[in-house]
Amino acid sequence: KVMDLKNNINKRLLTMEQSAIRAFNGTAVKEGAKYFLTLGEPDFDTPNEIKEECYVALKKGMTKYGHTLGSIDFRNKICEFEKKLNGIDYTADEVVVTNGATEAITSAIFTIVNEGDEVIVPIPAFTLYESVIKFAGGKFVPLDFTKDDFQLTKEALDSVITEKTKAIIINSPNNPTGCMLNEQSLENLYNAVKGKDIFVICDDVYNQLVYGKKDVGFVKYRDIKDQIIVCQSFSKPYAMPGWRLGYLLASPEFCENASKVHQYMVTAVNTFIQPAGIVALSCDVTPFINSYKERRDYVLDRLNKMNLSVVKPEGAFYVFPSITEFNMTSYDFCYKFLVEKKVALIPGSCFGTEGNVRISYCVDRKVIEKAMDLLEEFVNELRTQK
Ligand code: PLP
Repeated sequence: KVMDLKNNINKRLLTMEQSAIRAFNGTAVKEGAKYFLTLGEPDFDTPNEIKEECYVALKKGMTKYGHTLGSIDFRNKICEFEKKLNGIDYTADEVVVTNGATEAITSAIFTIVNEGDEVIVPIPAFTLYESVIKFAGGKFVPLDFTKDDFQLTKEALDSVITEKTKAIIINSPNNPTGCMLNEQSLENLYNAVKGKDIFVICDDVYNQLVYGKKDVGFVKYRDIKDQIIVCQSFSKPYAMPGWRLGYLLASPEFCENASKVHQYMVTAVNTFIQPAGIVALSCDVTPFINSYKERRDYVLDRLNKMNLSVVKPEGAFYVFPSITEFNMTSYDFCYKFLVEKKVALIPGSCFGTEGNVRISYCVDRKVIEKAMDLLEEFVNELRTQK
């Protein structure tokens, strides 16, 4: 008898799809795209001094199992770094070193979500959140903040918070918009969760890639620090996506519980990459930021000249122009653009909302220039066909 796999796989898993971003990127490869502005990873190689430290660690024989929470040297360095970056004091028992922010976010959600708990996610958003919330048995509660220029209003928050709300996940600067939550949004969120049993998960993976004034973000509300969970990544600021390195910051009690999820899933993060992580935290990322900013300015200028409306991104490496004037779904727009001009962007629907497309500008300037020329041609053609 051949095993009936479908009926024997976890039921929740069967309802989940592969990442829509990766799926559209696959479609682009199949359609023979020449210019890809699809993936959210730096086009830089990891800085040499970081790589060198990893070679040294391997040569020294750092190949044994590591501490569940991460090496004490690494966790102490993370605390020192956070103090320098945001002026906030953390201790080593408030840190769990993880396999990227992906594992930090997943561990955080599995640490708190019980069957039926609601988790609010302002959308458009990185789709990992929805999948993991559902897999943990929680209810994904989207909060569409498109109409509020990607800010959180009191009214919008009041409309989704219920007795069952367990957490809200924020991501500032945001993927896919590049926008940051302003002071008023942070204050609105603080007022909405203060005094309630609601966690705020801060996906801060882009918080070093900021073009204007640096902002401490939601972690500044120290009187509710037990409600705040920070998820961090080495992928974006230090061009280390393939290393799979990140961390989670929360109260000691939270970390103790999160470390159980972490332990049963990965045991501990790779021993020999942790010294490299320590070096990374001393790296100056200004040259990366300057390079992304120069590309952001160029893309914005081109979109403005095309009269495509866009909320100015203040960080990360994405822009999210509106395409509502064309009366097409974001998928149809991206697919037609892909087939006709061989340029791949990501439909906004991959992030849960309609009316926009995501452009990742962390690619070679020449590719961006060509893609913008072709986008201009494409929107002009669509406008004359109307
Ligand atoms: N959070 C957001 C908003 C992201 O855009 C990404 C990657 O694209 C991640 C988390 C995952 O980061 P990591 O590579 O550290 O797992």
